[in-house]
Amino acid sequence: MLIRGDFVHAPYLGTIEILFDHIIDVNDQGITTYLAAAESLESIELIGTRDVVNIPAGSFLLPTFCDLHLHAPQFLYQGTGLDLPLMKWLDKYALKAEARIDSDPALARRVYSRLATRLKENGTGTVLLFGTIKEETNLILADCMQSAGCRAFVGKLSMDIDITSPGSPANVYLEKSASSALEAAQSFISRCHGLVSHLPESQRLVEPVLTPRFVPTCTDELLAGLGDVSNRQGVRVQSHLAEAKDQVEWVRAERGMEDIDNNLLTSRTVQAHCTFLTPPDFQRLERKGTAVAHCPLSNAYFSAKPFPLREALDSQVKVGLGSDVAGGYSLDIMNSMRHAVAVSRMREGERKLRPNEISPKDLSIDWKESLYLATRGGALALGLQGIFQVGAPFDAQEIRLFDPVTNSGIGPLDYFDIEPEFDGSPKDANLLNAVQLNHEMIEKWWCVGDIRNRGAVWVNGAQVRAP
Ligand SMILES: [Zn+2]
Repeated sequence: MLIRGDFVHAPYLGTIEILFDHIIDVNDQGITTYLAAAESLESIELIGTRDVVNIPAGSFLLPTFCDLHLHAPQFLYQGTGLDLPLMKWLDKYALKAEARIDSDPALARRVYSRLATRLKENGTGTVLLFGTIKEETNLILADCMQSAGCRAFVGKLSMDIDITSPGSPANVYLEKSASSALEAAQSFISRCHGLVSHLPESQRLVEPVLTPRFVPTCTDELLAGLGDVSNRQGVRVQSHLAEAKDQVEWVRAERGMEDIDNNLLTSRTVQAHCTFLTPPDFQRLERKGTAVAHCPLSNAYFSAKPFPLREALDSQVKVGLGSDVAGGYSLDIMNSMRHAVAVSRMREGERKLRPNEISPKDLSIDWKESLYLATRGGALALGLQGIFQVGAPFDAQEIRLFDPVTNSGIGPLDYFDIEPEFDGSPKDANLLNAVQLNHEMIEKWWCVGDIRNRGAVWVNGAQVRAP
């Protein structure tokens, strides 16, 4: 597949690169094999011999978003009951959703299929998912993601300590023992691999992930066992770390350890939140190669304080963004980017209000840095690339800013400076490329764009959403 148009990506933190009028070639395995300016001799030759998908002026291709933290079963109750305190919300919605989905396979399939559709609609091509306890339900989740063409890292939840409140509508939601939880985790890994083993390797989009909910729900035996499985088999791990003050204090009091002191900090691990970590903790994560899923919206609801994002980035920790559905109500990573910037600006403002404690560092991030986190940052946390380059899987979304014929903005976008008074007559074709994409146009989309600006979406070279 040969695609011609403008390509935009964030190769480094804070840098947005526009590749004007380039050609990308993608092979049958979904890998980018060629990337160069369309006017180069080699490109001209290629264009002459093959069909080309043309991205019109006013539109560009961007790597798909990566959502590093999403509770798939909680999608059932997205945007519900968020005025409750965390433990009550967990009882009434989160754990209840998980128990309900585990007891009703038809409902699981319905919720998970819709989730896949919504992810693609929002430009998310890669997602790291928390599932439920029951193996079969997570196989349904993996199957739904694979069938929809979503690149999904699927976590069967592991937990052998009950956290439901007495009389909770979720009843007791946990596994019988550490050994049965370990057996089930191991079995899910095999069955998840088995689900796609009949496909050529390049078409396998789902991968199992070890998923201890968090330290308070897992015995030391279970945590140690999962760590062993990960080390022996190279399986990825995800969990929640230092999300809330009472979590950190509970682990200290009940387990005599710090929340971060577990053997799950590996280079294959993604830890959600990490709100209560300090710079020395970040250095530790960096040394281990462990990534953080920054979830600014749910932090605002349940963490009581913002994540020290700038400090984590300065420590070279891998950071991506997570929607944290349904502790976060929005599946759209565009919103996660905006929230990450807004929260960081409040931190910076607060820093400036304390002149005696002023540190020389600006704590805010800008839209370009957030776009890096949403694409390349998240991808690197999962061993992917998240940019356009030869050798990378072609995961892309088409973003439409303005109509190439009328120059009028698409959806919620208005570009008054390029929009002529259109008289309805077709324009000279030579004028169509007269308006060139620029950073300000992309910034406006970042601020006010929505799904009306999204055209086709490709994952691993396959088009998974029609324009
Ligand atoms: Zn979570």
